[in-house]
Amino acid sequence: MGMPAPTQTPASDLRAGRDYPPSYADLRAWFPDDAACLDYLEWLRWPNGFVCPRCETPGHWRMGDGRFWCASCQRRVSVTSGTIFHRTRIPLMVWFAAAWHVTSAKNGVSAKTLHRLLGFGSYQTAWAMLHRFRAAMVRPGRDPLTGEVEVNEIFIGGVRPGKRGRGAEGKTLVAVAVELLRPKGFGRCRLRIIPDTRAPTLRAFLLDYVSPGAVIVTDGLSSYPEAIGDDYLHKPYVVARSGDPAHVALPGVHRVASLLKRWLLGTHQGAVEADHLQAYLDEFAFRFNRRKAEFRGLLFRRILEQAVQVKPIAYRVLVMAPAPKLTKPLPPINHQAHTSSFAGASLVHPWREHNR
Ligand SMILES: [Zn+2]
Repeated sequence: MGMPAPTQTPASDLRAGRDYPPSYADLRAWFPDDAACLDYLEWLRWPNGFVCPRCETPGHWRMGDGRFWCASCQRRVSVTSGTIFHRTRIPLMVWFAAAWHVTSAKNGVSAKTLHRLLGFGSYQTAWAMLHRFRAAMVRPGRDPLTGEVEVNEIFIGGVRPGKRGRGAEGKTLVAVAVELLRPKGFGRCRLRIIPDTRAPTLRAFLLDYVSPGAVIVTDGLSSYPEAIGDDYLHKPYVVARSGDPAHVALPGVHRVASLLKRWLLGTHQGAVEADHLQAYLDEFAFRFNRRKAEFRGLLFRRILEQAVQVKPIAYRVLVMAPAPKLTKPLPPINHQAHTSSFAGASLVHPWREHNR
């Protein structure tokens, strides 16, 4: 019995100052303690009141420790159980500050930078938090790409060799799909590591991410006609015949590929492990697809909203391909600036204004 994919409140219905904090100062005022954070997560997870994640019924008792006791299946459920915060020992205030840094920085943050900004835990802690957030960047049941969609494969080089996902010469093959907008510009993108460019591989990628009936724009690779089949319309662009460079033929893919490579080299300084590349691709797509968002606070809300909808990643899964060892010691942390608790206790929960 699967829960239906949750629908997301459209951005136009969300208001800064009520549904999400407009600034870092507001974040501090809204969330002076873990109880306020927990209430915000509860509101995001169950906007219409508790529903048991196991038996999907609403009847419950509230327990003394804040957990819910399902009246139907007797299961005890906490707000964070089954989410990326499941059994975390890191205070939720630290998670919230991290979510703010991850979403407010235009290009995101590396584990090293996050560790320095939070002044909390170790480099490994910051690294594991970032990976949990990346898991929350893919929304279950998100809408497939539509209209005219460019599709191509690119190689990502410069990643450290890993056990899986390796392509020729240590490079990783990645399938890219980008929506083309008319008269100009690009819509959303999807990225996935693929083992090869055979027709069944590319077909699986298309069926997972692109709505049937869309127009698929590709180069002349012979796998595409079979991959596309009768589910899409095909607009092949034969680069060799036209003599145009690739960025003229497939400008969307070219744009995404160059931004992606710049981001991996810039924010992450190329220190991306091949075993975790898919998670970085997911973060890149999350950011790219929301690049026009007016308020950074909206992204903060989105990531927490999706964080309470995804399955937890056990740390033991992460450590199967653990964080790379740092070659240099980290710079000292300015404790005075960063570890003081959020000041200005507030009992007002602006997000609860909906219910009044
Ligand atoms: Zn239940």
